[in-house]
Amino acid sequence: MEYTVLGKTGLKISRMGFGGIPIQRVDRETARTLTHRLLEAGVNYIDTARGYTVSEEYLGFGLEGIRGRFILATKSMARTRDEMAADIDRSLKNLRTDYIDLYQVHNPTMEQLAQVIAPGGALEALLEAKSAGKIRHIGLTAHAMQVFESALDMDWVETFMFPYNIVENQGEDLIRRCAGKNIGFIAMKPLAGGAIEDASLALRYIRANPSVSVVIPGMAEEGELAQNLAAMNDLSPLSEEELTRMEAIRKILGTQFCRRCNYCQPCTAGINISSAFLFDGYLSRYGLADWAKVRYASMDKTASDCVGCGVCETRCPYHLPIREMLAKVAEHFGK
Ligand code: SF4
Ligand code: SF4
Repeated sequence: MEYTVLGKTGLKISRMGFGGIPIQRVDRETARTLTHRLLEAGVNYIDTARGYTVSEEYLGFGLEGIRGRFILATKSMARTRDEMAADIDRSLKNLRTDYIDLYQVHNPTMEQLAQVIAPGGALEALLEAKSAGKIRHIGLTAHAMQVFESALDMDWVETFMFPYNIVENQGEDLIRRCAGKNIGFIAMKPLAGGAIEDASLALRYIRANPSVSVVIPGMAEEGELAQNLAAMNDLSPLSEEELTRMEAIRKILGTQFCRRCNYCQPCTAGINISSAFLFDGYLSRYGLADWAKVRYASMDKTASDCVGCGVCETRCPYHLPIREMLAKVAEHFGK
């Protein structure tokens, strides 16, 4: 495993971290097994969030007795001072620790970012918690380029997390500037929310960029960890054949695809929007039509139930034309 310094935090971290979203779908014992495997493999960076339901809590359980061996990062959607102070305390309790290495402002819009840094905003609570030793460093996460660009001029931002993968490399220049300013760069969505099937290729692409401090693939199984470790431990340069496969993935996915972040929810009509797109992807792109049809048929509400209110589109950070895309899904599945 390669190690690096996470920008101005000075923290020494493994270049692959553990993304704590999928841990929500397993149990505490599995979380414990995984944290011990991470330790054995030399992976010392763990990312979670207040918003990932039980993730902090399961990881806190799994880290009992070994917490000091890891760099722990979490984040909160709180935008005000009081809400952020409460969330930091909740994270400390859930993670069963008396300090958190990196606490991040979770995915604000430009308007929300203005609120975070204004008097009475979340940044005040973060700076107070840092002075009190409850947290050690402060970071920011986002999906919007504008937020990324602004963050580069904010002194309090020690790390920045942004989607980066084979098909979403629009942030590459900013990632380079991030490294130039010694802000640690954390690559999220290495598989583009599951749209990229070849996890090894996806990780090899990110590892090859020296401006990326750490990539945090989500994992909930030991098999996934082993596969990701093998990809990250392969330090050979990208081959022509790999570059060709990456180009093929870009051609198939294009730019208009769902990253399964679920920020569009809840849907007025009760449709699980990202699942509808996921099953459609399996039907159209990956040749798993039978599997996709069975899963799609089990959905309570399907794409044809969309009433066209457009609320989801105002929430999608990728500005996807969700209504238009759902109409195609309904056409493909016949409902
Ligand atoms: S436009 Fe359709 S999919 Fe979007 S929230 Fe409204 S009903 Fe749901
Ligand atoms: S439609 Fe947009 S907001 Fe909803 S899950 Fe997909 S990428 Fe995320």
